[in-house]
Amino acid sequence: MRPAALGLLFASFLSAQAPAPAFKLIRAGRLISTADGQVREDQGILVKGERIEAVGPFAALLAKAPKAAEFIDLSSATVLPGLIDAHTHVLLQGDITAEEYDVQLLKESIPYRTLRASKACRDALLEGFTTLRDLETEGAMYADVDLKRAIQNGVIPGPRLFVATRAFSATGMYPLSGYSWELKLPEGVQIVDGVDAIRRAVREQVKYGADWIKVYVDRGYLMAPDGRLRSKVNFTPEELKAFVEEAHRLGKLTAAHAMAWDGIDAALTAGFDTIEHGSGFTEDLMDRAIKQGAWWCPTMYVGVWVAEGRGGIWKQLPALLAKAVRRGVEKGVPIANGSDAGGYAWTENPAKELVLLAASGMTPMQAIQAATSRAAKLLGQAANLGELKEGAYADLIAAPEDPLKDITALQRVSFVMKGGVVYKSGSASPHL
Ligand SMILES: [Zn+2]
Repeated sequence: MRPAALGLLFASFLSAQAPAPAFKLIRAGRLISTADGQVREDQGILVKGERIEAVGPFAALLAKAPKAAEFIDLSSATVLPGLIDAHTHVLLQGDITAEEYDVQLLKESIPYRTLRASKACRDALLEGFTTLRDLETEGAMYADVDLKRAIQNGVIPGPRLFVATRAFSATGMYPLSGYSWELKLPEGVQIVDGVDAIRRAVREQVKYGADWIKVYVDRGYLMAPDGRLRSKVNFTPEELKAFVEEAHRLGKLTAAHAMAWDGIDAALTAGFDTIEHGSGFTEDLMDRAIKQGAWWCPTMYVGVWVAEGRGGIWKQLPALLAKAVRRGVEKGVPIANGSDAGGYAWTENPAKELVLLAASGMTPMQAIQAATSRAAKLLGQAANLGELKEGAYADLIAAPEDPLKDITALQRVSFVMKGGVVYKSGSASPHL
C-alpha cells in the first residue's frame, strides 16, 4: 500500500475510534477572576476536552451546556486558576548544607533522582500547582525533559513543565567543589567558558529540549558597608550577552540566578528575561527592571528554610529580601511567584511562598495573581494559562476556605483539574 493511502486508512481508523471531546460543567460558588482582580459569585465554567469553552453566570451556562455534560459541584468553594510556581527543581530534594547537595549528586543515580522527582511532580499537582517552570536539574542532565514527556503522555501525573535542563556556570564557580583534583566528579550544571562555547552549548540544550536557558550569574555574597548585598559575577559581559542572544535567536527565554547587586546589574545589562532570587535589588535596579520588562521571582520561602542551617550571611537574607520585595511591589516591578521548591524539601507545600509575598506588601489578590496570571505572562503563556477564560487550558483548583481572607487557604485545596482531567476531588484522587 502506498504511504498516502496508508495514512488515509489510519486517519479514518482514528476518527472512528476517537471519542468526541467530553464536556464538563462546573458550578463555582465564588470565582476569582485573575484578569481583573474581581470575585464573581455563582459562576459556571464549561470545559470541552482540555480547554475552557465558556465562563459566565452559572444559569446562563447551564442553558448553553450540552445535556451530556458531566456536572461538577463546587458551589460551596472558591475556584481559581491552577497555581504556577515559576522557580522549582523537581530533581532536587532540599539542601540546607553543601553536604546535603553533594550526597544527592554522589550517591543517588539519575534514574533514582527521576523517580523521586516523579513523586515531587505528583505531590505538587495535588497541592494545586498545575504548572511549574523547573529551573535546572542540578546534575541530573536532561531528566526534566523526560519527566515533561512522561507527564504529557499520561505516564505519570504532574504539572505542565517548562524546563531549563542543565543550567550554566563557568569553571570553578558551581558545586561540586572542594574535592581532590584527582577525582572526576559530576557537575551540578553544564560548565562552559567563552563566547563560542556558550553559543554551541545553548544550541545543545535547546536541541535536547530546553524551554528556558538558565544561567548562574553570581556567587560569593557579602554585605557591603553601604547596606548593599554584593557578589562576584561568574561570566564576562560578552559571555552573558552570548547566552541571551543565542537563546533569543532560537526563540527561547532566559533566566538569571542573580542574588546580589552585582549579579542583578550584570543580568539586566545582558538582557535576561527573568531575575531569580534578587535579594540585592535596589531602587536603581528596580527602575531598570521595570524599563526592560524583566520579571523578578523573589523565591522567599527557600531563604527562610535554609537560613538557620546555613548560618552566616544567609541569616540576614530573608529580611533583606522581604524589604526589597515590599519596595518592588510599591514600585510596580513585575513580580511572579517562584518558591525554589526542591531547594527546600518537597514535603513542604510550595503555596507557603504566597504567605510571604502577602506579608511583603502584596494583597492576597496580588499574591494569587503572581501565582496565576502574572506567572503565565512570565512564561509567555498568557493565552493558555493563569486565567479562567475561553480558550485557556482547563487548569483550575478550588479551596473550601476563602484565600482572599486567609492566603494559607491555598495550602488546603480540595479540588484540582488539569487539562480538563480531575486529579483531586475532596479526599478522592482519580487518575492517579
Ligand atoms: Zn533555584
